[in-house]
Order: sequence, then C-alpha cells, then structure tokens
Amino acid sequence: MIAWLKDLFAAPAAIVDAATIGTDRGPSTTLARQLALVIDLNVCVGCHACVTSCKEWNASGSAGPLVDENAYGADPTGTFFNRVQTYEAGIFPGTDTIHFPKSCLHCEEPPCVPVCPTGASYKRAEDGIVLVDYDKCIGCKYCAWACPYGARELDEARQVMTKCTLCVDRIEDATLAADDRKPACVKACPTGARLFGDVKDPDSEVSIAIRERGGYALMPEWQTKPANQYLPRRITEVAGPPTRPAASPAGPTDAK
Ligand code: SF4
Ligand code: SF4
Ligand code: SF4
Repeated sequence: MIAWLKDLFAAPAAIVDAATIGTDRGPSTTLARQLALVIDLNVCVGCHACVTSCKEWNASGSAGPLVDENAYGADPTGTFFNRVQTYEAGIFPGTDTIHFPKSCLHCEEPPCVPVCPTGASYKRAEDGIVLVDYDKCIGCKYCAWACPYGARELDEARQVMTKCTLCVDRIEDATLAADDRKPACVKACPTGARLFGDVKDPDSEVSIAIRERGGYALMPEWQTKPANQYLPRRITEVAGPPTRPAASPAGPTDAK
C-alpha cells in the first residue's frame, strides 16, 4: 500500500479541538437544542407536495434560484433539497410500496462540516441546523463526498453547494404567525407525515413521537447521529374477501 495512504488509514478517526465545542465549527454533542424533522413512513403517500413546496419556497427565498437545467430534455438536472423515493419491498404477492422522503438529516456529528476547506459548511450552535455559507463556498464538493446520505446537491449554475436549511428563513421570520414558522414541506404535507421540532426537548412533539412510536435514525453505523428520524411503517393485516356461509347439508330451508 502507498505509504501516505497507509498513514491516512492509521490516523485517528476524528480529532476534536476542545476549543470548538459548542461553536459553529465544533462537535454538537453539547448542544442543548437540535431542530429536526421526524417523518412518519406509515402515512406518507408519496404525493411529492413536500418536494414541490420545498422547491418553490427555497427557489424564491434566500437559498437562491435552485436551477433546473435542460428540465424537459434527454439529460435533465435539477437542484432539490428534498426528494421522495418510491420502491417496492417484499416478495410478490406480499409486496409493500414504500415512499421515502429524504433530505439533509442535520447530523449531530456531521462529516460534511470538518472537510470543508473554507468554513462554508457549518453547524449552528444555537439550534443544530447544518448550513452552507454561499459566499464562502468554492464548489469543491468535498462535503458532498463526505455525506453518507447523498443529501447535498451542487447548484450547477452558481457552482455552490446547497442542501436543506430546515427553511431557516421561515422559522426565524417574526412577521409570520407562530404556527407558520415551520419548514415549507411540513406546512404542505397533506397527511401530517412530517413533524418538526426540537429533538433535545423531551416534551416536544417530535421527541414524543420518536419515543412512543419507535423512531429511528438512518444508518447509525456511520456515527453521524442524524437529528432527523423516521417513524416505521406498521404492518396492517388486510382482511380477505368475505367468505360465504357453508351450505346446509339439508339444503335451503323451505320458508312456507
Ligand atoms: Fe451533512 Fe449529510 Fe448529515 Fe446533512 S445528512 S448534516 S449533509 S452529513
Ligand atoms: Fe465547503 Fe462548498 Fe467545498 Fe462543500 S463545496 S466543502 S461547502 S467549499
Ligand atoms: Fe409524503 Fe407528506 Fe411528502 Fe406527500 S408531502 S410525499 S405525504 S411526506
């Protein structure tokens, strides 16, 4: 093996600078507040309302235009913070259709932050939201390679990295009614599949849902501690067709 590669593999997995704890660039395990989404896979119907509302809000807001190139051509590209993947699980005829919304998970230990050479990628100390400072981003894509969830998308037109911001410009907008200060996807979801709140507050709606309904994180083996969590699908026994009552051996009763 090449010597430098061998040294790289032998290096400690992570070196934490104690001076950064509790700051935007430091590890977040000490954060008292962590905003996140909790998504109920049991009631998501794959309607994509969250996808289009996300695109609409962010394309017209602080995130920029989020361009789609060659949208109706043979090789379209687009920038989406939130995508819904639909797939079949199980073996026919016992298959199940799963709709799986996916966006940045606002990890508590985000590998996308320390790899950024310019400090553009950062985690906010006050609420744990992971953001990109577009003015500092040079479009090198290191953060996209570091993210194990494929949650970052390069805006090809501006050559800056983009991702879900939890609609930071909505949730902090004091001109909106308190009930409106939620991510656009949460407001748009017709089935109430998307919950939003502080997962470090044990009394929040999201914490109660995680606790009582078996919420789980994606790929915990990566040790990124995703803040977003999913509520599992529940298996519903579907009743078969109504069965006819067995015919009487004596035949139909003569009512006369
Ligand atoms: Fe970073 Fe990816 Fe985690 Fe989002 S999901 S915080 S982009 S590692
Ligand atoms: Fe940082 Fe931008 Fe490079 Fe990502 S693409 S690592 S945010 S400079
Ligand atoms: Fe699922 Fe709600 Fe998104 Fe529709 S809007 S795809 S129901 S999470």
